[in-house]
Amino acid sequence: MKLAARVGQVTPSLTLAVDTKAKGMKAQGINVCSFSVGEPDFPTPPHIVEAAEKALESGKTKYGPAAGEPKLREAIAQKLQKENSLCFGAENVIVTNGGKHSLFNLFMATIEPGDEVIIPSPYWVSYPEMVKLAEGKPVIVETTAETGFKITPEQLRQAITPQTRLFVLNSPSNPTGMVYTPDEIRALAAVIVEKDIYVVSDEIYEKLLYDGAEHFSIGAASPEIYERTIVSSGFAKAFSMTGWRVGYLAGPVDVIRACATIQGHSTSNVCTFAQYGAIAALEGSLDCVEEMRLAFAQRRQVMLDYLNAIPGLTCTKPDGAFYLLPSIKKTGLKSLEFSTALLDDYQVAVVPGVAFGADDYVRLSYATDMDTIKRGMEQLDKFVRSRT
Ligand SMILES: *Cc1c(COP(=O)(O)O)cnc(C)c1O
Repeated sequence: MKLAARVGQVTPSLTLAVDTKAKGMKAQGINVCSFSVGEPDFPTPPHIVEAAEKALESGKTKYGPAAGEPKLREAIAQKLQKENSLCFGAENVIVTNGGKHSLFNLFMATIEPGDEVIIPSPYWVSYPEMVKLAEGKPVIVETTAETGFKITPEQLRQAITPQTRLFVLNSPSNPTGMVYTPDEIRALAAVIVEKDIYVVSDEIYEKLLYDGAEHFSIGAASPEIYERTIVSSGFAKAFSMTGWRVGYLAGPVDVIRACATIQGHSTSNVCTFAQYGAIAALEGSLDCVEEMRLAFAQRRQVMLDYLNAIPGLTCTKPDGAFYLLPSIKKTGLKSLEFSTALLDDYQVAVVPGVAFGADDYVRLSYATDMDTIKRGMEQLDKFVRSRT
């Protein structure tokens, strides 16, 4: 059958492809060390699981409102007020099938053919592809390790044209792990307000911070930027709920209503009993998140020390999320070549940086156990030495 042109413009997710290949090798009995997928290795905290079980048993198994269970929308609004100083109410919130779906809804609701969306690279794989699916034009602004992989206000200003609709901000970042300081966020906010565009702030890693780094929600910088901010987030990363598929989008009421209309004709409501798990996540203690964060902090240090001890690799120290992005430039290999040979010959799965618009890098997730990290780093060391 003839496929729609929009499909041909989109690249399938390389992160998922590497992971699929690694899982296939594992299924054949090959001992693979996988650092490819961005998913915490911890089980979902028990109080969240129990709340969903209770919801199932009490018959929360029917269709619900497309925009989400009112109680969850209210709890998310409360969270945004308390933790992020954003004065959103329940009507400003839509519950989506994960953070990925919330971004997709937003682009579908706001982007017209030819509209430009500014995306700093290295970027999360799905941003440019989603913009293309919405028939918009991704405008990639390159950042480098020298500037901490952060877009400067001058770079942002220069990228804005009369066609610019949205700027995509992701702090803490996937794949770089970097976190913008509150002052850096304020400086970007000033440009957004001055140029009268909108910002979508992907804050899914806001709880995963190290070395005293602070998360600052851009919408809290001023009343003017608040009106131009859409927050995208979800429960997957902080609460180890990747498979639950619960995320949310918060922003101006007209945008949220438009997303609810799209959702009403596409996915309808997010799995009803999964939403009750999310309510428990917001209402319960955050000790479980802190325990996971502390484990990530330790693993980050161990992996970083290994990486920087390998001649041929260099890696900056990021202070958020659960990724490291070492430069492979000195090996002379391109990222796809590097990651394919590493997986085939040394059974270590990493994501080629080309997926993030950064071909001199590979991404490693340290959301995995310490044994795998140690074993994988030794294999990586052997591989790089064999190539340099
Ligand atoms: C994981 C991730 C998401 C969304 O994940 P969901 O599983 O769809 O909630 C969004 N943005 C970034 C940068 C991510 O890494």
